[in-house]
Amino acid sequence: MELYPHSKRITQQYYFAYPQGCFAYPRDRFAYPQDRFAYNHKMLTRFHVEIMHLVLDDLFSQRALKKVIAANLGQDRLRGQIGHHEYHFDHNAFHKSYAYIEEQRALTISSLISNDVHAAWSAFGRLIHTAQDFYAHSNYINLWLACQPQGALHPSDVDPLSPDLINSPELRSGKVYLRELLTFIPLLRTFGMAVLPRDAHGWMNLDSPERGPNFPYAFQAALKRTRIEFEKTTNDLPEHLLTRFTGQ
Ligand SMILES: [Zn+2]
Repeated sequence: MELYPHSKRITQQYYFAYPQGCFAYPRDRFAYPQDRFAYNHKMLTRFHVEIMHLVLDDLFSQRALKKVIAANLGQDRLRGQIGHHEYHFDHNAFHKSYAYIEEQRALTISSLISNDVHAAWSAFGRLIHTAQDFYAHSNYINLWLACQPQGALHPSDVDPLSPDLINSPELRSGKVYLRELLTFIPLLRTFGMAVLPRDAHGWMNLDSPERGPNFPYAFQAALKRTRIEFEKTTNDLPEHLLTRFTGQ
């Protein structure tokens, strides 16, 4: 089954979009004080924010986008990190994460119908957080690059929803081990990484440019997927609900 048929509509409009820096939070600063304890478990806040501005600035009013961004970033607060692999596509929780995305999409639409636009913006923010994390926390990008017979393509050429890869038995996401906490302590980081299994989030993630040359592919895929999720959520909305949702 093709999970995301709308992906074919994606355009190349973000061809030149690259991670440029921080829109909302300076490097090494945190939206919430407790975030420093969850640092290694999440796609960096600044890239979530940058992706949302690049894709959604022209689609939402500033007021609406502010709420969407706040809900997206709220997923990486400590309470969203513990016991919620489905928020972040961690620990091979693929089916739970897909179900979570659809649950939040249904909540977005039902909230619009019941005229609770704030709840709709929050649900959509949570939805796209999970969708964006898919590329940073799974081996999807590695699999996609391995499938390019002509060698590595430009990051903007990445297909964010190759049906073969989405349904591949080789698809994995990083497992979260308690011992990864050691890697948060600078003096113990090397030791912590050495005792961390290779299927751990700590080894597999593409959360930041420091993770190597595959990061720009993860960034581009998350960018395209955000647009796809917006289209999938709004395609069947009547005009008055679309206007309510975007606040435009
Ligand atoms: Zn996350």
